[in-house]
Amino acid sequence: MTRVGPDDLWCPSAPAEAGALVIGVVNADGTVGYIRDRLEASSAFLEAAAEVGPPELRYRFSAPCQQSACGQWHDGCCTLPGRLAALVPSEEQRGDDDRLPRCAIRARCRWFAQSGADACGICPVVGTRDQAVPVPDDAPRRHAGRPPAHLEERP
Ligand code: SF4
Repeated sequence: MTRVGPDDLWCPSAPAEAGALVIGVVNADGTVGYIRDRLEASSAFLEAAAEVGPPELRYRFSAPCQQSACGQWHDGCCTLPGRLAALVPSEEQRGDDDRLPRCAIRARCRWFAQSGADACGICPVVGTRDQAVPVPDDAPRRHAGRPPAHLEERP
């Protein structure tokens, strides 16, 4: 079996760009339903999706982790899993080792490689498009995530 190195990991909350994988569909309540097959986002798909708004509001995309080229990267890690885990109430977090979401990228997911099942617990309730989680510095902001709006209304 091929070993996946740290430079081969993919972001599970990437912008909608040609060549990215479509790994989930955003449900009406803002949570993500995962697609188990590897489904590449073509330009035609993205153009059609963009006709009714930002594709990230309706789909979850995955693409190669940009590491230091991403504003969420700090000290050799993606900071999003840890920061989002602190924002999402524990009762909203999903999954455990026995019931992880059935996504298509676990073997090479950056968040899973860093945080294991804890990352999968927050992943379904994170939205890519909005940027309520501030980046740690002025670095380019390519990837972002936040809990869906219904969680932000909580005290
Ligand atoms: S965090 Fe977990 S559920 Fe989300 S894409 Fe990565 S492996 Fe899949």
